Amino acid sequence: MKRKLIAFVLAIATISCLLTSCGHEHSYDQKKIITPATCLAAGKMELSCSCGEAITRTIPKAHVWSESYCGELQTCTIDGCGETRTNPSVHSLDYSSRTCKNCSRPAIIVNLPEGESEVTLYNSKNAVVTSLMVTVTECTYTADSITITWSARKTSNGADLHDALTPTVISYKLVDSDGFVVSSGSDDASAIAVDDKVRDLTFTITRLTLWESYTLQFADVYNISI
Ligand SMILES: [Zn+2]
Ligand SMILES: [Zn+2]
Ligand SMILES: [Zn+2]
Repeated sequence: MKRKLIAFVLAIATISCLLTSCGHEHSYDQKKIITPATCLAAGKMELSCSCGEAITRTIPKAHVWSESYCGELQTCTIDGCGETRTNPSVHSLDYSSRTCKNCSRPAIIVNLPEGESEVTLYNSKNAVVTSLMVTVTECTYTADSITITWSARKTSNGADLHDALTPTVISYKLVDSDGFVVSSGSDDASAIAVDDKVRDLTFTITRLTLWESYTLQFADVYNISI
């Protein structure tokens, strides 16, 4: 009789063990989106435990925001919605990649002139001394500085021989997103013949503000005294 009871208890224990996974508490930490939510309809997701047990849950209706950098405008991408908002995320710098961990924006954006830029130098009589085509050939960043290398090719000289011998100075300025000049400078490129290439010139601009956008401009230099 006692043996029968033990067998019965064991059988019950085995069955309940099978039903409840032996007291193992399910941990539904694997999430699979079955239908994503939109602002028009709720979505559905499946949550599963490592034992294979799964439950489905409803995802509440929500706008589907376009990608944007932190703090910038986003638009709902669902047809006909048109809702907008300011992306509520805040930039957080990842030092190794120098990008934002939340939105992948580069820490500093510098808009460089594309292709060749024409730079014209004038003398004190406003006559063209020389023209150059300048190209940015390399640009490297740290978290708060930028190093730019450019090369230049002379395309024309002034008619006056004296003008042609004038030292060639190429100047640049870096303008922030509000239009303020944050850095400017010039580099000397010795007088060379038309079609010759000026040696590569490199300059570094430091202490730039994180998350700012800058634009590099090559400036024409006026009124070189000769
Ligand atoms: Zn489980
Ligand atoms: Zn929407
Ligand atoms: Zn960000």
